Amino acid sequence: MRLLLVEDEVSLADALAHILKKHSYEVDVFYDGEEGLDNAILTIYDLIILDRMLPSMNGTEILKQIRKEGITTPVIFLTAMDGISDRVDGLDCGADDYLVKPFSTEELLARIRALLRRKEKDLQDINMIIVGNVEFTPSTLMVRINEYQSKLTFKEGQLLEYLIMNKGHVLSKEKLFDKIWGFNSDSEFTIVEIYIHNLRKKVVVKGAKISIDTIRGIGYRLKEDV
Ligand code: CA
Repeated sequence: MRLLLVEDEVSLADALAHILKKHSYEVDVFYDGEEGLDNAILTIYDLIILDRMLPSMNGTEILKQIRKEGITTPVIFLTAMDGISDRVDGLDCGADDYLVKPFSTEELLARIRALLRRKEKDLQDINMIIVGNVEFTPSTLMVRINEYQSKLTFKEGQLLEYLIMNKGHVLSKEKLFDKIWGFNSDSEFTIVEIYIHNLRKKVVVKGAKISIDTIRGIGYRLKEDV
């Protein structure tokens, strides 16, 4: 995880960077507002820690600018002022969280973890494929049907994803084999049958509103049950 820290109080910035690195984060530090902005818009960062009062350009300006550019990187806003309006300002400008100085490093670390977890979850949700009541996340290979959850093997996941993408169409065994196992695979065509069997056992029979039909002599078709 790579963090950007923009803070002009050099001793504080360096101390924070040191602690963050000790917690296995990569950290880039900038002590100046404009420099901070130039780097914040690079989208290489997983999270930005941004001080409010900075030379050349203040934190709220930076925040407005990066949100205007469509950059959604989570931002923790640091403010020395405890006034409610300052905190509201930060959140209004697009900060995800804020900390009032002085704060404990434990608290900063906890906020960072919380935001990174949320980001991770958002990414998973984006990558989720939904058909009927079946939710499949290719990146984690997790299948969820109502309360039931199961983890597929890599090949099972590829096969399910391909069937879902071609929902309603008949796919020949050969086509599935070439797509998932590859032309040069040592496996036999019959492996497709085994994997379809596994998918039915792990997914279809668990109350899924989909079925995988066998089309005799040709192959398979995934369809949504209505
Ligand atoms: Ca400052």
